[in-house]
Amino acid sequence: MGWIQYILINVVETCLRMLPIPIRTGLIVLGNPGRNSPVILTCNFHLTVARVKWALRGIDAYLLVANSRGINVWCAATGGLFTNHDVISVLKTSGVEDLVDHRQVILPQLAATGIERKYVRKKTGWIVQWGPVDIKDLPAYLPRRKKTPAMRQVSFPAEQRFEMAVAWAFPISLVAGLILLPLWREGILPAVLLTWGLALIIFMAFPLYQRWLNPRSERIGFVLFDFGRGGVQLILLAGILLGLFAVAKYTGNFSGLFFARWGIMSTLVVLVLSLDLMGSTPLYKSGLHADRFLKVSLDTDKCKGAAFCEQVCPRNCYDVDHHRHLATQPRAHLCVQCGACIVQCPFDALYFESPDGATIAPEIIRKFKLNLMGKRLVKTVGRG
Ligand code: SF4
Ligand code: SF4
Repeated sequence: MGWIQYILINVVETCLRMLPIPIRTGLIVLGNPGRNSPVILTCNFHLTVARVKWALRGIDAYLLVANSRGINVWCAATGGLFTNHDVISVLKTSGVEDLVDHRQVILPQLAATGIERKYVRKKTGWIVQWGPVDIKDLPAYLPRRKKTPAMRQVSFPAEQRFEMAVAWAFPISLVAGLILLPLWREGILPAVLLTWGLALIIFMAFPLYQRWLNPRSERIGFVLFDFGRGGVQLILLAGILLGLFAVAKYTGNFSGLFFARWGIMSTLVVLVLSLDLMGSTPLYKSGLHADRFLKVSLDTDKCKGAAFCEQVCPRNCYDVDHHRHLATQPRAHLCVQCGACIVQCPFDALYFESPDGATIAPEIIRKFKLNLMGKRLVKTVGRG
């Protein structure tokens, strides 16, 4: 793949990022791998596979593509769509077992919310190693298979914020343009500019207001299609419509077309302003997820200091005291309740605790994943 093709894939698929874009699962041979070459596994979201292949240019390796329903690693694993079964299936059916002498497979760290290391090993004999959060760090990680704290921790740098702004603005402006086409052609360009401008401002200015975002606040539920907590969007929309009514009364223009045009424009502004910013990055829990009020608790009697929690936590909440063989959570306030540490702890020493003291056991976190609306799915294929 050349530069131009790679840039084109990135541009087109960033615009379409909200859609699943699956590619064929199975084995991809990179370079001239031998019997001790690394085996790297990723999801079957086309853009992710293209980026992994790009990052591994010049490196001899086997790349396994597992079924994640065409969705990126974080969303698919967290939502129960990239599962133990998918990893086991590609390990067993791709033919990779005949090509290498070892049984170590590198998985993306962000898959740790959905793929259980212990279970995969029990079923296949393969040892899962958690690779870096960012694909770009793969070449630096591979030689020693050691992650620095920076390789374990998610961030939301400018290029990712720009990418998410495009990912939201493109579909919203497209739909708005199509709706306005029969009603108000001259309104299409302002609507598109408004959508892109607002989305870019919201995402690029993120570092300026980040410290005021409190994921544990009820009021942060100001997100797309969520009119639940306080109905903030409804109030905003009602205020705008009231303003329109006042303008109509003042100008004497009470036509349906006037209300349709400006009603669509106002709805657009409200929708863009209520983007689920926190659902756009693993840095924060989505505002739709009630799980953001949970806290991860540690049973010190069960903890053996195995440090799997430290290896998979995307917020670097853990330190492990290797003398006392005990995990500590000095940065617990950064937790995004992803559950990865709970899923991976081989001794079930971690669990969620709700503000009213109720506990959610590791088995529940492993079995039942969150859907897009933040509800735990009753049925899951998580245990393969
Ligand atoms: S909490 Fe679990 S994974 Fe973390 S150090 Fe203790 S035993 Fe290991
Ligand atoms: S401490 Fe929180 S953020 Fe870190 S892995 Fe556990 S649940 Fe996820």
